[in-house]
Amino acid sequence: MLRIVNRLIQWTGNYKRRIYIGFIYAFIHSIFTALPVVLAAKGLSAVLDDRDGVRTLEGQDIWIMLGAMILAVLGRYLFSYLRAVTQESVGYEATADERIRLGDILKRVSLGFFSENNLGELSAAATTDLSFLEMYAMNMVNTVVNGYITVIVLILFLVFYSPLAGGIALIGVLLSALFLHLLEARSRQNAPVHQKAQDNMVESTIEYLRGMQVVKAFKQEGVSLAGIRKAYSASKRINIKIEMEYMPFNCLHLFSLKAASIAIAAVAALLTCNGSMELSTMLMMDMFSFMIFGSVETMNNAAHVLEVIDATLDKLDGMKHADIIDKDGKDIPLHNTNIEFRDVTFSYNKTPVLQNISFSIPQGGSTTAIVGPSGSGKTTICNLIARFYDVDNGEITVGGENVRNLTCDSLLGNISMVFQKVYLFHDTIENNIRFGNPGATQAEVIEAAKKARCHDFIMALPDGYRTVIGEGGSTLSGGEKQRISIARAILKNAGIVILDEATASIDPENEHLIQQALSELTIGKTVIVIAHRLATIEHADQILVIDKGQIVQKGTHQELVGQEGLYRRFITIRERAEGWSIATSH
Ligand code: ADP
Repeated sequence: MLRIVNRLIQWTGNYKRRIYIGFIYAFIHSIFTALPVVLAAKGLSAVLDDRDGVRTLEGQDIWIMLGAMILAVLGRYLFSYLRAVTQESVGYEATADERIRLGDILKRVSLGFFSENNLGELSAAATTDLSFLEMYAMNMVNTVVNGYITVIVLILFLVFYSPLAGGIALIGVLLSALFLHLLEARSRQNAPVHQKAQDNMVESTIEYLRGMQVVKAFKQEGVSLAGIRKAYSASKRINIKIEMEYMPFNCLHLFSLKAASIAIAAVAALLTCNGSMELSTMLMMDMFSFMIFGSVETMNNAAHVLEVIDATLDKLDGMKHADIIDKDGKDIPLHNTNIEFRDVTFSYNKTPVLQNISFSIPQGGSTTAIVGPSGSGKTTICNLIARFYDVDNGEITVGGENVRNLTCDSLLGNISMVFQKVYLFHDTIENNIRFGNPGATQAEVIEAAKKARCHDFIMALPDGYRTVIGEGGSTLSGGEKQRISIARAILKNAGIVILDEATASIDPENEHLIQQALSELTIGKTVIVIAHRLATIEHADQILVIDKGQIVQKGTHQELVGQEGLYRRFITIRERAEGWSIATSH
């Protein structure tokens, strides 16, 4: 138990000094807890002496006694308060720091990390697991360390009046510690099972909520609820089983303390009967026997909470040791935005996706269109430019620098990406756009929104730019979300723009506005576009035709359309899809 508490204290990092100061307050608080009992016994002894005529009790003595008692009680509350203000908030502060640290790490790991570690586990770590630490970390430090400080101080008081009673109390505490240790061992076995059930619950809840639209459309509420029910009832079963296993150890722990309390009272009574202890001391012993173990009695709850905390800290450590992709990277300012792939080979988990890809994209005002069948590797090429993954062989340079030599921040500072699937944060429209450049003024945000053809629909909303968007952007239409994401990219004003053109059909009005917004975004930039629209492809300065992870054709529309090959077939299909009758020049 102490090992985990120590781990917890180390986890709080810079805040641990405050925890140690809290221990000193807890020690003084314990002395003030024992003092009223000692003072009450002294008072009783004086009253008995007065009755027996040994000495006369003056009015002044009573006032002194009362004053001392009030001071002891006040001292007890004062130090309890000081301990609480010093220690209690540490849990919240350390957790807030940890969340930021985790966010920082997750930003710098390869995207592969997110498919290897399922989303349920990652979100549980950042939300429920850390909330658990937030709520219980300091509570546990207080229960265990301050609990033992109190019991040790009270035993020392007992020893002073009767070494035998002190010895009995010590044996009671040691026996209880033994049973707690056994309880803890059992709890350690159960912690991963408990954790797994918890993760399953989070995962199936996320799954259920995400799939809600499909579930409703197909009227399959029963089927999807079955998964969530199964996870919830498994968690319930596991929790009940765990509680049953703890029961015998809980009982033995409490029994050893209660037995020690009774033994202290009995010893005090015997010693008083045979004349070796005063009546007032016996009463003091009785009072101590009631209160001495109060602080350790609740420690059985701490034992398994601490095990869960231990498992949580393991999990957080695992995440903190995730491979940071840019740990050797440097912040190098790029002087141009030329992009070059040299013999690049890449695979996802050993499944080859790109083979020996080479091409170069000249900087500024040029557009490179990537075309090819679905699954051929177009998105992967774009993800590699942004170094969301590392290549297996070959190299990618941006501005003449190998992307491996750059930090993610210095590389991504030069890249704006507009994806088909837009993610907007649950925040105001203004902040969602400002995400592209956190230092931008409100005027700059509005200017970007105007260029992205968002301004009019934003102004038509009741709260304008202050309108809070539902989670994932759920209150806006697809086209509006897309334009906000373009405004974000315009505000970022990066030299390289990577675009994934929409494949889903959008109404012509929206399509028109999106095209206007994209033209504003791409003026003078180095543009790479996963292209589907004929107009985009035809006007591109360079077209890369990808098939099964290889570049099968490369050139301009005029050059490629004259060749036999995939490009011509692709263009014919696009023409039919867009309802064009004549397209090529030959
Ligand atoms: P495109 O954009 O041309 O449709 P992608 O680059 O998305 O193609 O995918 C190329 C291949 O890599 C596909 O076979 C796809 O299934 C696979 N793939 C894409 N992303 C991942 C991933 N995160 N993990 C494993 N395989 C992936």
